[in-house]
Amino acid sequence: MARLVDARALPAYDLGEGHPFARDRLLPLFDLLASAGLLRDGDLLETQPATDAQLAAVHDPDYVACLRATSVRDPGPAALAAACRWGLGSADNPIAPGQHAAAAAAVGATLGCVEAVLGGAGTMAFNPAGGLHHAMPHGAAGFCLYNDVAVGIRAARAAGVPRVLYVDFDVHHGDGVEWTFRADPTVLTLSFHETPEVRFPGTGRVTDVGEGVGRGNALNVPLCPGTADGSWTECVARVLEPAVRGFRPDLIVSQHGCDTHREDPLATLECTTRAAQFAAGFVRDLALAHCGGRWVATGGGGYQPLRVIPRAWAMLWATMAGRPLPAQVPAGWRERWALRGGPALPADWLDGAEPSARHERAAAANRRTVDELLAAVPWLVTAGAR
Ligand SMILES: [Zn+2]
Repeated sequence: MARLVDARALPAYDLGEGHPFARDRLLPLFDLLASAGLLRDGDLLETQPATDAQLAAVHDPDYVACLRATSVRDPGPAALAAACRWGLGSADNPIAPGQHAAAAAAVGATLGCVEAVLGGAGTMAFNPAGGLHHAMPHGAAGFCLYNDVAVGIRAARAAGVPRVLYVDFDVHHGDGVEWTFRADPTVLTLSFHETPEVRFPGTGRVTDVGEGVGRGNALNVPLCPGTADGSWTECVARVLEPAVRGFRPDLIVSQHGCDTHREDPLATLECTTRAAQFAAGFVRDLALAHCGGRWVATGGGGYQPLRVIPRAWAMLWATMAGRPLPAQVPAGWRERWALRGGPALPADWLDGAEPSARHERAAAANRRTVDELLAAVPWLVTAGAR
C-alpha cells in the first residue's frame, strides 16, 4: 500500500514573488495525478504540522523562535536584526509571512509519512512537499527553512528503527542531512549531486565520508557537468545497491529532487525523466528486497514546474503505488497548463535521449569518481561494489 501527502492541503511555502521555488509549484503535479487516473480513495495522507518539540530533535530552538518571529506581516526591527544570524533575509531565503507555519507543515508531512510506513506492514509513503535538504540545525539555507528529512530520520530512530539509509538524488548536495548525521553510525547518507566545484552549496566531495564513529557512513558522488542518463544511472547502481547490502538499513528515506534534468535552469547536468524513473524503481526494488518495503520518498529541488516536476513525481507515485501510467501525458492536462505560456508540454512520459561526446567525457570522469569512492570506503567493496 502507498500513501501520498496532499501538498495542496498544506499552507503555502512562500519565498516571495518571482522566487524559483514558486509557492504553487506542486499544483500541476496534483492536476496531472488526477488527470492520469493515479489518485484513488484512501491514497491521501492527512498530516499535522511539526511541533516545537519535534523540530528541536534537529533544530536549535532559538532558530525556530527567530523564524516564528519573522513569519508575521510586520516583523519588528529586533526580529529582523536577529534574522541574518540564522540565514534568513538572504536572496535565497527572503523573509515572508507564514514561513514558520508552512515549513513546520512540510516537516509534519514527512513525519506523517514515517509514521505511516512504520505503522503499516508494507506501507510506502511520498511527501512531494518535502526534501528540504539544505536546512541546517542552526539555520536556513538554499530555499530550505526546516529540514524535514533530518527530523523524519530522527523520529524513525526514536521510534526504534535501528538503521536508516538516506539517499539524495537532487542535483545539489544533501548537505543539511549529511551534517546532521555526519558522526552517527546508525544513519547512512548518500548523495549524488553536481560537483561542488561548480554548484551550490560547494560541499560533498568524494573524500568527505563522515566523522568519528560515523566515518564511512557519509557517501558523496559528485558528478561532472554534462552527466546524462546513462552515466547517472550507472553511478547510482554502482554505489546505492552495495550501500544497501552492506549497511542493511531497516528504512530507506529518499529525496527525489528533479533539478538533474537537462532543462532545469539552476544546474548543468543533462539527465531526463528516464533517470528520475530509474531512481524511483531502483529504490522501490531495494526497499522491497532488503527492508520489508519500508520506504519514505520526498520531493526536493526542481525548477521546471510544468515540463519536468509533474511527470517526474507522477511517475514516482505510480511506481510506489504500483499503478500503470496512461500511454501518454493526458492531452487535457497539457492544454490546461499550456495556457500559462512557455514551450509546449511533452506528451511522452520519458524524454528522448540525445547521445553526445560531452556525455561520454562526463561518464569517464564519473567512473573515476566512483572508483575513488570505493577505494576510500572499503566496506562498499566487501558488499559487492565494483
Ligand atoms: Zn536542488
